[in-house]
Amino acid sequence: MIICDTHCDTLYNLQVRPGSHLDVTMDTLKKGGVSLQTLAMFVGPGRKGDVEALFAGMFHQFELLKEQGWKQVDDPSEAVDGEVSVMLSIEGCEPFDPGLEVIDEYRRRGVRMAAITWNHENTLAYPAMSGSTQGLKPYGVEAIRFMQQVGIAADVSHLNDAGVRDILEKCDKPPMASHSNCRALVNHPRNLSDELLRDIFAAGGYVGVNFWPTIVGDPANVDRVVDHIVHMYELGGEGKVGFGSDFDGIERKPEGLTGPQDFPNLIEGLRRRGFAEEDVKNIAGLGLVNYFKRIAV
Ligand SMILES: [Zn+2]
Repeated sequence: MIICDTHCDTLYNLQVRPGSHLDVTMDTLKKGGVSLQTLAMFVGPGRKGDVEALFAGMFHQFELLKEQGWKQVDDPSEAVDGEVSVMLSIEGCEPFDPGLEVIDEYRRRGVRMAAITWNHENTLAYPAMSGSTQGLKPYGVEAIRFMQQVGIAADVSHLNDAGVRDILEKCDKPPMASHSNCRALVNHPRNLSDELLRDIFAAGGYVGVNFWPTIVGDPANVDRVVDHIVHMYELGGEGKVGFGSDFDGIERKPEGLTGPQDFPNLIEGLRRRGFAEEDVKNIAGLGLVNYFKRIAV
């Protein structure tokens, strides 16, 4: 079975906190049977810090992983059962400040998804955590249209509601949320409303469910994570929902989901809830593969 995870912050930790404990290692990925791990290059909380140097550092960490045998793929369809592959993403589009040519450069280096904001306003948009009701900025619309043209998925995790709505209305391809849950289950700005989830799914988008206990709900465990998947299925998410763990970006973890090695527990939790094997396969990874077919350029 192909298992895909659309978000972790491992590269950021390798760059900023060398030597710290990592949830995501080749060992834990193999133990969990993960076929595709997306590695985010995360802008971090240093707002006006040297974004260029930080991202150069994370690209360097990625090169070091590849020297150790980590295999980069350019599309989820390249994921192979029984093998671990990794794909690049961005969390916070601050690197795209200089202009569209930078987006092209990131795409050429293998970036396939980009979260428009993290928790700070940038030149594209406003984050969910800001409480802003303003939509995308003009450069945001331009940059996201260009991202979609060159094959970078617009990732709405961390983006405010008005920004998500703007992507649905002003951009050609359906967005994804790499690591977000249901606001109807846990009322938190980082979670997506039923209305937005319905529209994301109806447009052909995709959502990876986040394991961060704060937005999973109490008691944070495998069953609470499954609750979010069930709710998304009720909103039209069949075949359009998967996993976006946020490992190495979260300190607390749900019981029974403490790292990639625990993915089998979640797969078992889906079966226990009554999901048919076809649905389990979609949620585990095929849904992501199919989303990238829908947004193919
Ligand atoms: Zn995040």
